[in-house]
Amino acid sequence: MCFWGPFVIGMVLVLAKNLISHKMIKYLIAFFLLLPISLVSQTDSRIYDIIEAVSAERIEKDITTLANFGTRHTLSDTVSNTRGIGAARRWIKSEFDRISSDCGNCLEVFYQKDFVKKGDGRRIVNDVWVVNVVAIKRGTKFPNRFIIMSGDIDSRVSDANDFTSDSPGANDNASGMAGTIEAARVLSKYDFESSIIFVGLSGEEQGLYGGKGLAAYAKEKGWDIVGILNNDMIGNIKGVDGVISNRDFRIFSEPVPPTETEEQRRARRFYGGEVDGISRQLARYVHKTTKTYMPEMNPMLIYRLDRFGRGGHHRPFNDAGFAGIRIMEAHENYTQQHQDIRVEDGIAYGDVLEHVNFDYAKKLTAVNAINLASIAWAPPAPQNVEIGGIVQPSAKLKWDKVEGAKGYKIYWRDTTSPTWDNYKYVGNVLQSTLDGIVIDNYFFGVAAVGENGHESPVVFPTGVFR
Ligand SMILES: [Zn+2]
Repeated sequence: MCFWGPFVIGMVLVLAKNLISHKMIKYLIAFFLLLPISLVSQTDSRIYDIIEAVSAERIEKDITTLANFGTRHTLSDTVSNTRGIGAARRWIKSEFDRISSDCGNCLEVFYQKDFVKKGDGRRIVNDVWVVNVVAIKRGTKFPNRFIIMSGDIDSRVSDANDFTSDSPGANDNASGMAGTIEAARVLSKYDFESSIIFVGLSGEEQGLYGGKGLAAYAKEKGWDIVGILNNDMIGNIKGVDGVISNRDFRIFSEPVPPTETEEQRRARRFYGGEVDGISRQLARYVHKTTKTYMPEMNPMLIYRLDRFGRGGHHRPFNDAGFAGIRIMEAHENYTQQHQDIRVEDGIAYGDVLEHVNFDYAKKLTAVNAINLASIAWAPPAPQNVEIGGIVQPSAKLKWDKVEGAKGYKIYWRDTTSPTWDNYKYVGNVLQSTLDGIVIDNYFFGVAAVGENGHESPVVFPTGVFR
């Protein structure tokens, strides 16, 4: 404030003397106020505000409420107002509605549901409506472009088809659900260029039904989906491996989309891309944003769809050709997931509240919130990115113009590196050459950069030019 004092006084004097117009003064003030942002760094102070605003207390309250519905099994009671998945989803909707009314109805809140017939899968033992609760914060510039954060409504015990026993699912997955609600609270205070979806998905434990339903709904509506950040178990810090860490977390991403064609597969053999699918780029984006704004955290890029042989709600989105990753704790405890609540050989089994670390859930919620914000503030990713430079000293890239981009960054990395370690900002051009960077020795990608400095995910080239 002191720093600006003399400047403001000077301005007032100039204004008084009427030497320059009011309009000019406004421009000058805007220029000087924006100056520090562009000079100091590429960080955005609003991102730090978002991290600050996420509340462990509210997350604890919401996880407690969810656990207290007794069971949230997908096939459980839907009539009671205190027990079962019906009560749980109505409460989630009422929370989204409340957040919306606190921000002048800034969220579109609705149920998205699909009827699943008994016997559709081994775990569908009755006819059931699989009901998701959706809240959309509509983008100001790209309303049909979406980044999604999800948690799950449903829970289970030892027998996946036991829909009556107590199944608090405090960590799996009230933690992800509560984090999603809290992120909606925090981000509802801002406007974004692209839309953000906060969603509670159902039917996860019965065979990923809710994700399948919403992915199909998205296709039908023609939604342009940047990706989904699926949160499944974000509250446990004491691992079965003996490690206790409130900083480690995992980002799972599959290498390439399952929807790729035979032609694309063949091209990969010659041009690369085995570890550069759209989900992997989203994972790298989350890794980088976390390292930039929450350097105390240790994000682990895990190069696989999910845990060994296990599943999560990002998968149906991957199956539909959308980018999707799973964000979760690094150290799981198997005695505290999918278990009947009991004591056996001195071990307390069950997914109960006492095992959830709310401060850790808050951190992973913040990881989500800052990535949703960065992506929703950034321009769309460039399309038709092509690479050239075969048997030449310099690699070159070209891409289509992106609406709202002030410029582009070309990224490259050693072929063995998991992260985009090098970049060059090339300004507002649609083609650029990296002098002396030989195409054979690195992987390359392009990102669009907005006026505010926020970047799109990196796009790996899908074409070659001479
Ligand atoms: Zn589970």
